[in-house]
Amino acid sequence: MSFFRDFLKMFKKREIVLVESGKESEEVYTFRFKKDSDVNWIAGQHGLFSITHKKIKNALKPFTVSSAPTENYIQLTMRIGHNPSEFKRAMLELKPGMKVNMTGPVGTFHPGDTGRPLVMIAGGIGITPFRSILKQIEAEARSGGNPIHLLYLDSKQSYLFQEELEELAGHLPLHVTYLDTRDDLHREIDTLTAKYKNDGQYLIAGPKSMVSDIAAFVQNKQISKRNIKKDSFFGY
Ligand SMILES: Cc1cc2nc3c(=O)[nH]c(=O)nc-3n(C[C@H](O)[C@H](O)[C@H](O)COP(=O)(O)OP(=O)(O)OC[C@H]3O[C@@H](n4cnc5c(N)ncnc54)[C@H](O)[C@@H]3O)c2cc1C
Repeated sequence: MSFFRDFLKMFKKREIVLVESGKESEEVYTFRFKKDSDVNWIAGQHGLFSITHKKIKNALKPFTVSSAPTENYIQLTMRIGHNPSEFKRAMLELKPGMKVNMTGPVGTFHPGDTGRPLVMIAGGIGITPFRSILKQIEAEARSGGNPIHLLYLDSKQSYLFQEELEELAGHLPLHVTYLDTRDDLHREIDTLTAKYKNDGQYLIAGPKSMVSDIAAFVQNKQISKRNIKKDSFFGY
């Protein structure tokens, strides 16, 4: 069913209107767009976005919707460095009232069954789908007491949404661990895979090479592929 729903959504392009934007940290910006009542998605999915106010090369890029469907806006959180692509320069030009095109959102990066322990592993900007997923779990009050662990790796210790994550941890059986080295991340994964084994669901998001390495590490702990979901942000 979800395949057909996604398939149909791939053909539906719509304009979305910027409401506000702001800086989250030195190299990360958030853009909030108006959410029309007929727009819906599953927390964790990504859309395909294109610039409309000028012509640029490589005009179509995927970004996770970092807001939950229960929030009243479509939010994108983007890493924009000091020498950004044409696409990201165009994003920085957006003023409230201006539009971009969105196709989707689509994708299978969501926990689905939350009746099990959830281990979420974010690398840097890979925190975006987890913000959405956690906000949605909170809104639906549906964790059912099952533990949720968020292992959040950022070598620059520039952790996004920290205040919101602390607040979520106050409402959910959520434990957030902030990490800045792969060795520390591996140690945490050792502990959690030993504890939950194949009863847990393991979700990994971030830059493509980090996701491949960490997925292989988790699999090496005798965790079956079907209990691991990956969201690879290629382009970094
Ligand atoms: C499913 C999916 C979801 C995604 N969700 C998000 C999201 O929520 N937020 C988000 O920011 N991105 C997300 N991405 C990645 C996004 O689509 C872009 O590919 C990415 O932001 C790179 O953007 P850019 O090509 O405009 O280059 P820029 O980031 O502007 O970089 C310009 C150039 O510098 C290079 N570069 C940038 N950073 C580095 C680095 N650290 N080391 C070496 N070279 C570098 C790039 O390769 C590029 O050529 C997602 C990708 C996928 C597939």
